[in-house]
Amino acid sequence: MRVLILGGTTEAASLARQLAGDTRFEATLSLAGRTSAPAAQALPTRIGGFGGVDGLVRYLEAEKIEAVVDATHPYAAQMSAHAVAACRQAGLPLASLTRAPWTEQAGDCWQHVSNTESAAMILGDTPRRVFLTIGRQELPVFAAAPQHRYLARLIDAPKGERLPPQLVLLQARGPFDLAAETALMRDERIDVVVSKNAGGGPTYAKIAAARALGLPVVMIARPDKPAGHIVNSPNETVQWLDHVRRSLRGV
Ligand code: NAP
Repeated sequence: MRVLILGGTTEAASLARQLAGDTRFEATLSLAGRTSAPAAQALPTRIGGFGGVDGLVRYLEAEKIEAVVDATHPYAAQMSAHAVAACRQAGLPLASLTRAPWTEQAGDCWQHVSNTESAAMILGDTPRRVFLTIGRQELPVFAAAPQHRYLARLIDAPKGERLPPQLVLLQARGPFDLAAETALMRDERIDVVVSKNAGGGPTYAKIAAARALGLPVVMIARPDKPAGHIVNSPNETVQWLDHVRRSLRGV
C-alpha cells in the first residue's frame, strides 16, 4: 500500500524506520525543508511544500497514495489543516500521530500565553536574560521586546529577518540532557525560558532544568490542529495502516 508520511518529528523518523523494511507498505516521507541539513531518514524522502491543499491533492493523486499519516510537529497546524482537507477531497484515510503535551509538575512555574507575540510582551519592561527555545521562524517577533538579552537555540541560523538587537545564537540539535541544560542556563545566567509545549522526551530537559533552577517558563500554547484518526505511537500507526490495507485489499 502506498503511504505518505508528513514528517519533521522524532515520531515520524521512528515510523519511517519501522516501515522501511516492511513489504506491506511503500512509504514516502515528506519534510517541510525547515532545516538545511535534515537528519538522514530510513525512507525515500521528498522535501518542501506541496502548494496548499490543491497541490497536496494533486500530489496524492499523481503518486497514487492510498493512506496518509500526519506526523508533523504539534505547532505545524497549517500542514495538518491541509492534510485533513486534501484527504477529504481525495477520499483518502488519514491518521494523525499525536504527542501528549507536557504538564506542569510540582516546582514548575509556567506562565501560559496563547501565542509568540504574547510571550514577547509578558517578558515585561525590565531587561532580562531570556533562553528562547522556539526555533527559527518566530525569532523576529522578539524584536518587539529589544530590552532583553536573548540566547536563542536553533538548528539553522536565521537569515535576512529583523532580529532582536541583543541576540546570541546557539546552533544545536536535540536531544538535550538535564545536566547540560542546567549548566547552560546557570552559565548564561538565564532569568526566564520561553518554550513551546512540544511534549515528548528529547527536548524536555530544559523544562526540568528550569524547575531545578527555580526559573519561570513562558509556555506558548499549542495551536488548534485539525486531525484525522488519532494514533499515539508509531506502533499504533502501523496497526492502523495494516487495518486500512486489509480493508482496501479485502483480506
Ligand atoms: P505549518 O505552518 O503547519 O506549515 C506551513 C507550510 O509548510 C505548509 O502549508 C506546507 O506548505 C509546508 N509544510 C509543513 N510541513 C510539511 C511537510 N511535512 N511536508 C511538506 N510540506 C510541509 O508548519 P511549519 O511552518 O513547518 O512549522 C510551524 C511551526 O511548527 C514552527 O514554528 C515550529 O515551531 C514547529 N516545527 C515544525 C517542524 C517541521 O518539520 N515543519 C519541526 C519542528 C517544529 P504547502 O502549503 O506549500 O504544502
